[in-house]
Formats: sequence, structure tokens, C-alpha cells
Amino acid sequence: MPIYRYQVLAAHPGCDQCARGFEVMQKMADAPLIACPRCQAPLRKVITAANVAAGSARLNSQSHLEKHGFTQYRKVGKGVYEKTAGKGPDYISGD
Ligand SMILES: [Zn+2]
Repeated sequence: MPIYRYQVLAAHPGCDQCARGFEVMQKMADAPLIACPRCQAPLRKVITAANVAAGSARLNSQSHLEKHGFTQYRKVGKGVYEKTAGKGPDYISGD
């Protein structure tokens, strides 16, 4: 899931959270936040490097998955899957 960063609009003082800016993990399909969940101040979405750093985001989500005991595979070819996180065989084949 992508992480979005929000910060209070410049004209508003905001609270500890939104004055500094904070990050929220949201599904692509979720509506963007328009108000701070703590102080209700209007928010703007901030574009961060984290949004484009797909490499490190993937690593984070992999260790997260492993910590929770999930095994994740990605498709690398026709009927062949490579393990990207967790326990289990490194490759599985659908044949
Ligand atoms: Zn706030």
C-alpha cells in the first residue's frame, strides 16, 4: 500500500501531528484525507521521496510480512513463482 504524507495548510496552525506533517498508509482507491484526524484542520497532500522509492518500500513490506509469518511469492514466469518473503521453498512451479 502506498504511503501518503499530509501536512496542514500553511494558513492554519494545526496540531503537533499535522503541523509537522504525518504519513498515512492508504489504498490507492481510498479518498485522500482532507482534514486532520486530531484537530480537523484542512490538510494538503505532500509528495515525498518515499512515494517513489519503491525499492525500500518493498523491503519494508517484505520484513513486515515475514514478521507476521506470511510467505509471499511473485510470478517470474509461466507457472513459476519466486519467494520474496517468509518461509518455504525459494521457487514453486505450477507444473
Ligand atoms: Zn492536526
